[in-house]
Amino acid sequence: MLAAELRLHDVRVLVLEKETEPASAVRIVGLHIRSLELMAMRGLLERILPHGRKRPASAYFAAIPKPAPPGLDSRYAYLLGIRQPVIERLLEEHAVELGARVRRGCAVAGFEQDDEGVIVELADGERLRSRYLVGCDGARSTVRKLLGVGFPGEPARTESLMGEMEVGAPPEEIAAAVAEIRETHQRFWLRPAGVGVYSVLVPAAGVSDRAEPPTLEDFKQQLHAIAGTDFGVHSPRWLSRFGDATRLADRYRVGRVLLAGDAAHIHPPIGGQGLNLGVQDAVNLGWKLAAQIDGWAPGALLDTYQAERRPVAEEVLDNTRAQTELLATEPGPQAVRRMLTELMDFDEVNLHLLKKITAIGIRYDFGAGPDLLGRRLRDVDVKQGHLYGLLHRGRGLLLDRTERLTVAGWSDRVDHLADSTAALDAPCVLLRPDGHVAWVGDDQQDLDDRLHRWFGKPTP
Ligand SMILES: Cc1cc2nc3c(=O)[nH]c(=O)nc-3n(C[C@H](O)[C@H](O)[C@H](O)COP(=O)(O)OP(=O)(O)OC[C@H]3O[C@@H](n4cnc5c(N)ncnc54)[C@H](O)[C@@H]3O)c2cc1C
Repeated sequence: MLAAELRLHDVRVLVLEKETEPASAVRIVGLHIRSLELMAMRGLLERILPHGRKRPASAYFAAIPKPAPPGLDSRYAYLLGIRQPVIERLLEEHAVELGARVRRGCAVAGFEQDDEGVIVELADGERLRSRYLVGCDGARSTVRKLLGVGFPGEPARTESLMGEMEVGAPPEEIAAAVAEIRETHQRFWLRPAGVGVYSVLVPAAGVSDRAEPPTLEDFKQQLHAIAGTDFGVHSPRWLSRFGDATRLADRYRVGRVLLAGDAAHIHPPIGGQGLNLGVQDAVNLGWKLAAQIDGWAPGALLDTYQAERRPVAEEVLDNTRAQTELLATEPGPQAVRRMLTELMDFDEVNLHLLKKITAIGIRYDFGAGPDLLGRRLRDVDVKQGHLYGLLHRGRGLLLDRTERLTVAGWSDRVDHLADSTAALDAPCVLLRPDGHVAWVGDDQQDLDDRLHRWFGKPTP
């Protein structure tokens, strides 16, 4: 995603991936509303939708089933379930079409930075020079470790085993056992996942720090321990384990090296937010880094990446901590869970939690101003169709209902749509390339100040 965002601004990008082949663990991830909006903003949604399954929007908070409350202000108010290798492939294709280069089988082993750039050393000794380096290298990030950036938080307390395999027991027997066990164990399922294949999730016996996958025997043991039978599981397609460690990088940037995605934050997968969070990091960072490289970034623009995104991750870590407590099988947490389930019948509570999980409630701190300032703008109707259709190039946009303002001086970075009919409760808004509202008003001088702040000096 970051590579594609950078390419929209003509930055030369090289993606280094240590694996020679895409990952084999084909877990399904859920893309939530804000990520779907971002995909629509970049013209990617049409490409992605046929590969996923739409499910109704819902908070999915601690796996408490509640329909979405009324009043969701998004054109993309659903969850899209999609296999992670598929979304990764689609994003890679998009980046490559835009001109990014991807080299597989290249592990970053070291780097040095100076005032001009970064020299990256690969495991085979090859050295590459670039102006910036972004570590999008996951939870065990080599880049983060080499930077010496702290990753404080809590180690895993529990681990889960997850995989796909064939099952000997009849479907009715499985369904009945699963329904009974899930009344108390939320970290447990056997779900059909294709012809004759089941997706299996079961708590692990303990916590191990092993990176290698579990064995079928581990699954059998744990199924026995929880269900009293192993359901005759055999012929695994893939097996994996994951824990509930929760950690946040102290810093997202040291000089010319930055961190994004799981390299910057990890948390339990409950609520399905990790990949979403990383995609949103990328869209926040892309245009800022491109502006820095292009030379027009105002002084502190690149540092707003950490200032804006780290608090968002902090909040996600917190909501996953809360959700994890609600999955515990002891009577106390179960009682809190029942109480929260009742509270979620109040639409405001339900909406509050849903906004957290789907990331549509985020408001960056852009200073004092109307409520819309700092928030994402929904995909409003404009005379050409939908607003998001005008954001595919990743530029800023002035949506001008007064039809008398101008972005002259910044028109190489910011588009102008004069449209008195736009379905908006404000005279004009200035959107950043990530779709967040950088200004609301109707005064040209005021607008010029904001253009200056976010898009640098005007071109004479
Ligand atoms: C069971 C489970 C379910 C989940 N469900 C969801 C969900 O529904 N929704 C959601 O949003 N998220 C979900 N997640 C989280 C999601 O999978 C992660 O947050 C996401 O994969 C993070 O993406 P990333 O690109 O930051 O890191 P990764 O996916 O870890 O990618 C990092 C890449 O860097 C490469 N790499 C590592 N080191 C180096 C190196 N030294 N040099 C070169 N390359 C390197 C790796 O090979 C890897 O390809 C789930 C996670 C789990 C475990």
